[in-house]
Amino acid sequence: MEDIRICPEHGFYRGENCPECDYRGEVILNKDGVEKLGRFVSGILRHFPERFGIEMDEDGWVSFDALVRAVRRKYKWANQWLVKALVYSDPKQRYELKGDRIRAKYGHSVKVKLSDYPPAEEEVLYYGTGEEEAIRLLEIGIKPVNQTYVHLSTTIEKSEEVARLRTDEPMILEIDAKRAREEGIRIIKVNSFIALAEEIPPVYIKRVIKLPAQEK
Ligand SMILES: [Zn+2]
Repeated sequence: MEDIRICPEHGFYRGENCPECDYRGEVILNKDGVEKLGRFVSGILRHFPERFGIEMDEDGWVSFDALVRAVRRKYKWANQWLVKALVYSDPKQRYELKGDRIRAKYGHSVKVKLSDYPPAEEEVLYYGTGEEEAIRLLEIGIKPVNQTYVHLSTTIEKSEEVARLRTDEPMILEIDAKRAREEGIRIIKVNSFIALAEEIPPVYIKRVIKLPAQEK
């Protein structure tokens, strides 16, 4: 977790220096604040909007003002500007803020249709996991566990990052996304590196790539 700073020219960013011009901006939210605010905002937008009386539509949108009010009840120091800083500086592009509404782009455990996302156009997509799990998935297909959607990566590198969080010896499943879409599986693109599907049946898993263990 990194501090959020502001560059007068390029706006909010995370880390020491502005990635665009190397200017060292003022800290507007320190790591600790980023973590607290991030956990709370993603909790509401992905998992429990109703716990804070926030109404969510079927595509996951909620009122930005309502979210900020909930945030301020929890953290007196927070404000709408800091929530925007969190959203716009997010390196994982977790959120989408449009007009007076905001939503999480992925990671939901609440039922959302996300019907306003474009289909993913990639011919292949990737899913990173561990060895045992990979063998199981080859038989049963990829299904969401704690989430509403299966999260697929647009590149091998991204799927490797995901897998390495959980295992030292990642296996990457390569998905025939083109054929899956042609045969009626809905796959949507939420940002440059993540696509979502309700399920990927085993027949669309094209091959398994075993990656070398990483030295620690
Ligand atoms: Zn800058």
